[in-house]
Amino acid sequence: MAKKQFKAESKRLLDLMVGSIYTHKEIFLRELISNASDAIDKLYYKALTEKISGVSKNDFFIKITPDEGARQLVIEDNGIGMGKEALESNLGTIARSGSLLFKDEEATGKAASKIDIIGQFGVGFYSAFMVSKEVKVVSRAWGEDQAWEWASEGADGYSIKEGRKDGPGTVITLTLKDDTDEEKYGEYLSGWKLRTLVKRYSDYIRYPILLETPQAEAAEPAPAGEGESAEPQAPKGPEVLNSMVPLWKRPKAKITDEEYADFYKDKFSDFEDPLKVIHTGVEGVISYEALLFVPARAPYNYYTKDFEKGLQLYSSGVLIMDKAKDLLPDYFSFVKGVVDSQDLSLNISRELLQHDRQLRAIEQRLEKKIKSELEAMLSGDREKYEKFFAAFGLQLKFGLYDNFGAAKDVLKDLVLYYSSAEKKLVTFGEYVARMKEDQQYIYYATGESVEQIDRMPQTELLKDRGYEILYGPDQVDEFALKMMREYEGKEFRSVSEGDLGIEESEEEKQKAEKEQKKYADLLAAVREALDGKVTDVRLSKRLKSHPVVLVSGEGGLSLEMEKVLKQMPGAEAERIKAERILEINAGHKVLKALAKVYEKGKAEGATKADREAIKAYAGILYDQALLMEGLPVEDPVAFSNAVCALIEKTV
Ligand code: ADP
Repeated sequence: MAKKQFKAESKRLLDLMVGSIYTHKEIFLRELISNASDAIDKLYYKALTEKISGVSKNDFFIKITPDEGARQLVIEDNGIGMGKEALESNLGTIARSGSLLFKDEEATGKAASKIDIIGQFGVGFYSAFMVSKEVKVVSRAWGEDQAWEWASEGADGYSIKEGRKDGPGTVITLTLKDDTDEEKYGEYLSGWKLRTLVKRYSDYIRYPILLETPQAEAAEPAPAGEGESAEPQAPKGPEVLNSMVPLWKRPKAKITDEEYADFYKDKFSDFEDPLKVIHTGVEGVISYEALLFVPARAPYNYYTKDFEKGLQLYSSGVLIMDKAKDLLPDYFSFVKGVVDSQDLSLNISRELLQHDRQLRAIEQRLEKKIKSELEAMLSGDREKYEKFFAAFGLQLKFGLYDNFGAAKDVLKDLVLYYSSAEKKLVTFGEYVARMKEDQQYIYYATGESVEQIDRMPQTELLKDRGYEILYGPDQVDEFALKMMREYEGKEFRSVSEGDLGIEESEEEKQKAEKEQKKYADLLAAVREALDGKVTDVRLSKRLKSHPVVLVSGEGGLSLEMEKVLKQMPGAEAERIKAERILEINAGHKVLKALAKVYEKGKAEGATKADREAIKAYAGILYDQALLMEGLPVEDPVAFSNAVCALIEKTV
């Protein structure tokens, strides 16, 4: 029979698995056990919801049978099984999520990323090829009479033919690779090794994992150096290896960090330990246990629309939904975990779930719990919190902005911004606590990066006054901070806003008024020259060393928002325009020079060129301000010509 080819990406994954440099090859066992357990879950759930008789929870099992003579390891389950099509589509293609990253991996070709892939996508079934030279799967789908046999020796393809099997379920036979100097694949046939692996990775699986050992176990080596006598004689009949108590049902005090971490990595296909474990239980009107995890880093697709949030939902130990979305608000969508409640009815359909009051009650409690745990991390372990924030801070900021700021109160003490004064990330609370006495606003600046923002002319005077400024380098910051409006009664104000709201002394006021009067005609002339481009030209109260700056009008659309909105697909770029005000530094030589040019143009005997000069200079200053703001100049060629003309004048 002709061999069928794997889909391209699957083939490459298989190549990786076969020649795997991944050091934890032993995880293949937990992957296969995990699949078996899922298959049983599916059948059990089907039986319960469709009221199928004759299926009892007590009949389910996962059985491991080592056969040293044949160098084979057999893993059997009596779950839902797979028909011919399912075998082809499930085992002939890798998970879609994986394929995406594969393209990147091809582009970079880094060996390190291979390890990441194996960990990050729980490539499950394929991990069998890390230890096997041949994999055979005989499966019979529930409700079908015909079983099918799928077999493969790795990347060069697989075959499918009719097979024989009593009852539904799946039997996977691994023919282990030959031992090498580095790798003793044969040890996966030892009862001792199998017990250890099941205990370590699969203890919580809620169906019995049986070890069938036909030959006497006496030959098994006892762990060296522990002084214990040899292994006890193998009991008659299969031995149950796992405790079957789900981890979340066990008393917290008896669970080690390692057990939590292994559970998390297995269940949620991560290769890194979680950053935070939240194990919580509530007894009352509504009772539940929840075991939640905050990952150490964002999944590769976290900030895309492909990412699906949700917690696994169990009802009295039976999995009823793999990703219950309604249990997590969007801003905490990074949380992974399990919720188990005996108060939920088993046959809840997806639609019903949305309206389920009990579910909403659980969601609200979980949200509170997650919030308080994050706050505790922030105050107790700042370094860890910053790691968390680096991964998921952006999501919290989106949360501030979402739904017209509905979640402000939940999130306002969880977000961090870089401080111009502290040179590190700070909270709003920390900022407000050290605000200067005469300072009225919480100042912030947004831009491309912390470095770029730090150079912004708009920040000069505020810094000079010793006011702290929060830097927002993410596109969402301008929107999120606008939505914040105020924190503890202190309003937020962008450094680019028309009015900075700085209190001036009487002396300063008078000086400013005098200057404004002195240059009134000049400013009017510049405004006229920039007609249609700016709404106002005025002397600046925020500049020290820079000659000019563009600021937004009071309220309304800011320049930063204009930039973001213009990048959005489908935006009507032409119509989005923030009100622009050009500010000129009264203390700068450029103003004096402008004044001279203006006077010369008005003087008797002025040539046409003299009269037009102010226009050209106004244009250059405006274009410079645009550039500093990170906005494109309207006519780069004209700008360049104007600058050249200036240079020519100097000789
Ligand atoms: P994942 O488990 O992450 O979906 P796998 O490659 O491990 O990826 O498995 C692919 C699919 O094959 C599973 O989603 C499941 O539908 C099916 N499958 C694997 N093992 C079994 C099994 N023992 N019984 C029934 N179906 C299985």
